[in-house]
Amino acid sequence: MGEKTKLAVSPAIQVGGSLFTPEQLAKIGTVAGSDAKIEMTTFKQLYVEVSLDEKASIQEELERAGLEVYPTGFATKSLIACNFCKGAEEAGLETARILNRAIAGIKTPTPLKIGYAGCALGTSEPLLKDIGVVKMRDTFDIYVGGEPKGIKAAVGRLLISGITEERLVPVVSTLIYLYKEQSKGKEKFSKFVDRISMEQLKQIIA
Ligand code: SF4
Repeated sequence: MGEKTKLAVSPAIQVGGSLFTPEQLAKIGTVAGSDAKIEMTTFKQLYVEVSLDEKASIQEELERAGLEVYPTGFATKSLIACNFCKGAEEAGLETARILNRAIAGIKTPTPLKIGYAGCALGTSEPLLKDIGVVKMRDTFDIYVGGEPKGIKAAVGRLLISGITEERLVPVVSTLIYLYKEQSKGKEKFSKFVDRISMEQLKQIIA
């Protein structure tokens, strides 16, 4: 293999969580080749090392197998969703998929993690993500600034509650693009939230 690069690969957001089929795992192994490194990340994506020359064709092949392929590194990660144990409708599976399509893979100053939980039990740990979405009956609450790393780890703070399904993508997108445009250098999202302030963020998304 000549020059190498990485693809971030994940299964579709679905009831049951991050489920790969045996065929999908076999496909990943085949396209990556026997000497490739395949890393399981903490954010539910596999980082698959591939040849730079073959990147586009490998991406197409993985997508044909029903997998989703995203950029690695400094970008929004695909939505880190729960297992939708309360069922697709009650836990908002379609909304999560729409949100994922809108926000995954946007270039950002630092890698950005967005979590989604289909109920207040929050088993996907949305309050430990940069942006956390929690479905509360028919509306959504959004938390910001979760920081799971380091000795100053912190849970996200409630930014807005009771937003409708229609407003969910616009609000989360606004937060991402605001961070993209107004962060200072490689400022972490939690620091950005502190600097801009919760009050001002609330006004911007209101
Ligand atoms: S967040 Fe709620 S709906 Fe989603 S898997 Fe956990 S308990 Fe089930």
